[in-house]
Amino acid sequence: MRNCGEEYDSKTRGRVNKRNMNPPCHNCKLKCTEKIDENYRKKIFAMFWAIGDLQRQREFIKDSTQADVPKYQRSTVNRKRERGSNQAYSITKDGEKIQVCKQFFKNTFDLSDRAIRTTFKKTDKRTGVLSLEMRGKHGKGRNLNEELVKSAMVHIEKIPRILSHYVDLRVLGSMVENLSPNFTETI
Ligand SMILES: [Zn+2]
Repeated sequence: MRNCGEEYDSKTRGRVNKRNMNPPCHNCKLKCTEKIDENYRKKIFAMFWAIGDLQRQREFIKDSTQADVPKYQRSTVNRKRERGSNQAYSITKDGEKIQVCKQFFKNTFDLSDRAIRTTFKKTDKRTGVLSLEMRGKHGKGRNLNEELVKSAMVHIEKIPRILSHYVDLRVLGSMVENLSPNFTETI
């Protein structure tokens, strides 16, 4: 239940409370609350926890955070980043990435600094590929060929974006393994 936002018992942290959306930022220069209203926050909070899968939730966090701000936002946002942070946070609304502050992002999804840091740590800086979580039931007895998965990621752009966005890397990995050994040369 831990990835569904429900209460659960952790060996290291004891009873972990049910996830709850927290209040938005206050008097923020990015004006997050004007851009994303409470109803929309509730909706994406529920959607995020409904994913129920750690790997895909991390993919989502990765996609919502970036080191560089897109050009069109640069003029308004550049000087307003939090001190000591080179990461920009965004929430997608109506197909558009809306820049928000870290606090707004964290509180909307009830995420800890640690959860966000872990996602950054597990993302390969050069390729942007998020490494697989091998802990727990999904990782057991399965050793994916990471190189093959990475090469497949290069080609995944050919799949319509909407389908590929949160594609399960484990599924992808097993697909790749079942293809011919010449897979990487044939596409
Ligand atoms: Zn804010």
